[in-house]
Amino acid sequence: MFDLADLYQQLILDHNRSPRNHGRLDGAGRRSEGYNPLCGDRVTVYLALDGEVISDVAFEGVGCAISTAAASLMTEAVKGMTMSEATALFERFRAMVTGEADHGDESLGKLDAFAGVRNYPARVKCATLVWHTLKAAIDAEDEDEVVTTE
Ligand code: ZN
Repeated sequence: MFDLADLYQQLILDHNRSPRNHGRLDGAGRRSEGYNPLCGDRVTVYLALDGEVISDVAFEGVGCAISTAAASLMTEAVKGMTMSEATALFERFRAMVTGEADHGDESLGKLDAFAGVRNYPARVKCATLVWHTLKAAIDAEDEDEVVTTE
């Protein structure tokens, strides 16, 4: 039996209570907005780039515990990565939470806390919303472009 408590691991609860990198990022070169109509989660991702490197990243938003914790942990994970490294990390995270990978992925570090999401298909979008929004900011050609992901 899968225990619902596993979905709300301590790490997720902690990041929901005190999200990291939360708030508007002054000097962000890129911004994108995401909305998950299934749950009502809304998130804005701010991205500051130094060449190909994500020098800083922050988010604002309102949503459920899963989406807020996912946003907080995403910002911690990708800060300092290149954009292509962050995109590759998103692919592995997405494979884990959709069940494509069929197992947790300890190489994802703290992001492995979301492994239980694959047992709750309705929550997959909560966990991936901020990543889709990050990807939209990475892919934005125009640095002032605002992208909406659904
Ligand atoms: Zn949600």
